[in-house]
Amino acid sequence: MLKLASPLSPGEVALVGAGPGDADLLTMAAFRLIADCDVIVYDALVSDEILALANPAAELICAGKRGGRPSADQQDICQTMVQLAQQQKRVVRLKGGDPFVFGRGGEEMRALAAAGIRFRVIPGITSGIAAPALAGIPVTDRTTNASLAFLTGHEAHEESRIDWPALVAAFPVLVFYMGAKNLPQIARRLIGAGLAADVSIAIIHAAGTANESCITGSLRQAMDGELVAVSPAIVVVGEVVDGRIDWRSMNQEKA
Ligand code: SAH
Repeated sequence: MLKLASPLSPGEVALVGAGPGDADLLTMAAFRLIADCDVIVYDALVSDEILALANPAAELICAGKRGGRPSADQQDICQTMVQLAQQQKRVVRLKGGDPFVFGRGGEEMRALAAAGIRFRVIPGITSGIAAPALAGIPVTDRTTNASLAFLTGHEAHEESRIDWPALVAAFPVLVFYMGAKNLPQIARRLIGAGLAADVSIAIIHAAGTANESCITGSLRQAMDGELVAVSPAIVVVGEVVDGRIDWRSMNQEKA
């Protein structure tokens, strides 16, 4: 079996998850491949700390992609990767969190396969799990939930593909990616779908970076705009938020 961290061959692409931002949360395979490749095509959410691990001779190409900002067209990104591979470069395609969680990694994988490019996939720690953990919120807890849902908050304002009443009935814990901008609409939809207005919510901003913050409150406060989320943020809704222990500030006090 292929060792995930074995050196890339010329013309090979690795779709690599970079985790939430802290370089300490990279996988061993991500660390090794970032340090030993010819080109890194990275997303806006990949931290400078992680890019600094690249071989100084490697070319770094920013592929953009951040809600509300100009971003490279997905087709262009796929084409760039295919062209680099065809030039026999060893390419790392570096994406925030996990490449296959709201990250379009599937589309990129299919584009590479269609072009006959050799590739591998390195999973990363997804922010929907890492951000709550860093803030001291376990996304499952034996006493509160036997299931959870991961969603994008991106479409809450438009014709939504989410069945909100079914969602609220089925899942005691909801974790939203890309929910910052539409937070009031998301909260309104959840309350409209039957969730109590006093259910707790946590907003974790920039987890795993120097700017990390976590604020908590109720769904009603989120609906009324009293809790403001700044992108990138993970929004956690449910009783698990009440069990939060802010272990990092406790450690800071002791240090
Ligand atoms: N593939 C990524 C998600 C990409 S979608 C992953 O698995 O994590 C982009 C969204 O991810 C952001 O809008 C935000 O909701 C979330 N996100 C990514 N990095 C984050 C971080 N360091 N802190 C908080 N949220 C983050």
